[in-house]
Amino acid sequence: MDCLRLDRLDHQVSGNKSLKLLGHIDAWQKSSHTRLLSFGGRWSNHLHALAYAAARLDIPAIGVVQGYPEQPLTPTLMDCQAQGMQLILVDKMTYRQRYQLAYRQALSTEHDAWVIPEGGDGPEGGVGFHPLRALLREYDEVWIAAGTGMSAQALARQLSAEQRLVVVNAVADNGVLAARMQALTDSADTQCAIRVIDDAHFGGFGHCPAALKALIQDYDQRSLPLDPVYTAKLAWALERAAQQDELQGRVLVVHTGGLQGRRSL
Ligand SMILES: *Cc1c(COP(=O)(O)O)cnc(C)c1O
Repeated sequence: MDCLRLDRLDHQVSGNKSLKLLGHIDAWQKSSHTRLLSFGGRWSNHLHALAYAAARLDIPAIGVVQGYPEQPLTPTLMDCQAQGMQLILVDKMTYRQRYQLAYRQALSTEHDAWVIPEGGDGPEGGVGFHPLRALLREYDEVWIAAGTGMSAQALARQLSAEQRLVVVNAVADNGVLAARMQALTDSADTQCAIRVIDDAHFGGFGHCPAALKALIQDYDQRSLPLDPVYTAKLAWALERAAQQDELQGRVLVVHTGGLQGRRSL
């Protein structure tokens, strides 16, 4: 078993979020917009990576966050601000509109910005995963944690028919991710087998009960830092599979980063 440490790509712009940003930054460059704009929660790994990447490339960036001015900023958002990101706090109803194209287009016009969907999604988000192809092909099985599943989908497209992708869902989503991955399996551009593990979310997105915290501490002892939202659940599911003798052949575990979120514990 090997671990692909995307958390160590860069000490600031780390994890799968940096890979998802590459295509968007390219698209921004080709567009005539002056700014980058995106969305995220108060502990968003995506906004954090965007703020650091934009600062380093000298691109003005805006983060749209659900919240109220009287709420204290999280360390994540303070980092974003310190990197020069302009934060726009919006109420719940407004924030919900982020999935609507019309709202994103209005924001794009208002702020002269290339708008990146939440989490770095969209077709541009997959481009940064292409260079992993040769490495991924050396394994029988690839494991990754998922939120939207965009990174998992990008990996699936790089794998061959002899390989299997195992996706650990960090969200309690009533089968939405599983359906999305099934659609991918049915499509012509994906050959590999895909398994979605839907019972390792520990109650849903952002839930980190004592058992997971203990696992994080245990892995700290073994010098593999895990984040509380995604990779801790991945490690838990992986350990269970190992105990049940389910791991087959050479396994690559993708560490998607998110370590800045450990400050939420
Ligand atoms: C965002 C994130 C994920 C989930 O990525 P998706 O492409 O949305 O599935 C997994 N791990 C970490 C650490 C993340 O920050």
